[in-house]
Amino acid sequence: MHTIDVAGVQVDTRHFVNGERLESPATYTNTSPIDGSFLGEIARGDADAVNAAVAAARAAFPTWSKLGPKKRGELLNKLADLVEANVETLANIETLDNGALLRSHLRGVMPRVAMNIRFFADYAINDLHHEAFETRGHTNNITWDPSGVAALITPWNAPLMLATWKIGPALAAGDTVVLKPAEWTPLTASYFADLTKQAGIPDGVFNVVFGYGTEAGAALTAHTGISRISFTGSVPTAKIIAHAAADNLTPVSFELGGKSPCIVMADADLDLAAEIAVEQYDNAGQVCLSGTRILVHESVADEFAEKFREKAAALTQGDPRDPATDIGPQVHQVHFDRIKGFVDRAVAEGHDIAWGGGPNTELGGLYFQPTLVKNPAPGSEIVSAEIFGPVLCMQTFTSDDEVIAMANGTEFGLAAVVVSGNRDHAKRITDELVAGTIWVNCFFVRDLRAPFGGSKKSGIGRDGGTWSFDFYADVKNTVVSPNGWKE
Ligand code: ADP
Repeated sequence: MHTIDVAGVQVDTRHFVNGERLESPATYTNTSPIDGSFLGEIARGDADAVNAAVAAARAAFPTWSKLGPKKRGELLNKLADLVEANVETLANIETLDNGALLRSHLRGVMPRVAMNIRFFADYAINDLHHEAFETRGHTNNITWDPSGVAALITPWNAPLMLATWKIGPALAAGDTVVLKPAEWTPLTASYFADLTKQAGIPDGVFNVVFGYGTEAGAALTAHTGISRISFTGSVPTAKIIAHAAADNLTPVSFELGGKSPCIVMADADLDLAAEIAVEQYDNAGQVCLSGTRILVHESVADEFAEKFREKAAALTQGDPRDPATDIGPQVHQVHFDRIKGFVDRAVAEGHDIAWGGGPNTELGGLYFQPTLVKNPAPGSEIVSAEIFGPVLCMQTFTSDDEVIAMANGTEFGLAAVVVSGNRDHAKRITDELVAGTIWVNCFFVRDLRAPFGGSKKSGIGRDGGTWSFDFYADVKNTVVSPNGWKE
């Protein structure tokens, strides 16, 4: 009884260590957010499991790191091929486990998983170089050397996509990996582990330990045998991990939360603005990048609100496996209750709920209605805290200075969206925004070569292209003198 059957495919529930399945003395229960059904008992990792995984990753490191980008690239491209061949299976598993839309997993997310692996494998071969610097005849050669074992701690909102965004560059850089996926969504990581074996990735290069953050996650981040910690998740958990990392001075890369602004200027195409605004409900609002604070110029607020209302009313909520569904369930009861708590408190404080405002009573379970809070009081909880659900706020502004102050007025700085019909005006605004990524008249489009990450409390460091290798590798400068050569 070590597998879960997903549409005829067996997903192993044990750890994956040194190319083998490792049984766990303790387990925890995994359920599906779609209908609360029991999925299975998952290995609940402790320090022993983590020690075994780190030992395996360390033992595999000398060979993997010496293999070179080309040979590693061949194996990683094979892995990407296998992901592509298994898109449907991976999509089915992920939807059952985290409740996100099957159609998104099929069309966008799982193909992107393959791309995460392929892109970094190819980048290490073709693009990871720097012009040598010459100084007084001396040549400075820059190289990216493998660093050791990368500990990867990942969240539940886009489990395999965000895991491979770290696994891809770590393995391509020549590091070996121990992954601790989020406890609510372990399944695609397990199936992916089987694919690494099929691809011929050597035993111990990629390992997975399942379990709780406070147990497996804590043991992994405090381990003295790791060389890097890459974490995507919440600010409070990042602080705990930063403390664990401090004891060993382990370098960290953090991608954390946001409360990003979505700014609708007076000169904006309001149909486009409404389209972009409604996209902020994607993945049932469980997207760190979402522009959850809609800031609209007072002169167009009523017209925009009407267009936005029409689009929001057209969203279909339901089973994420149904192609007609736009919004599925929240990931877990604990998270659902957290979202409901935010909205209940906003209602109790007398905030104006334009639509939604609570659970979808027709569907029951973990389905929360797309919600809009209008004109929340500045500084109130609903407009300051990250909710991570289908709950947006809308506020108005009257000047550029005012909207810039509002946009930058949170502890976060992950992303921002600006909708404007005038390039100069849009640039005046984007120049002043503090955010890792800004979208102008669009949302979510991004080149994997570009940097990705957050300012202020939204993160430490950047991923993407060379930035990923700067983190996972030990960047080395070898300065060669023109003197002293005997040949
Ligand atoms: P959320 O509260 O939304 O579940 P978290 O930031 O707590 O988000 O979780 C993201 C990831 O961090 C998960 O894989 C989780 O298991 C892990 N995690 C949680 N607590 C810790 C911890 N103390 N040490 C290491 N990892 C942790």
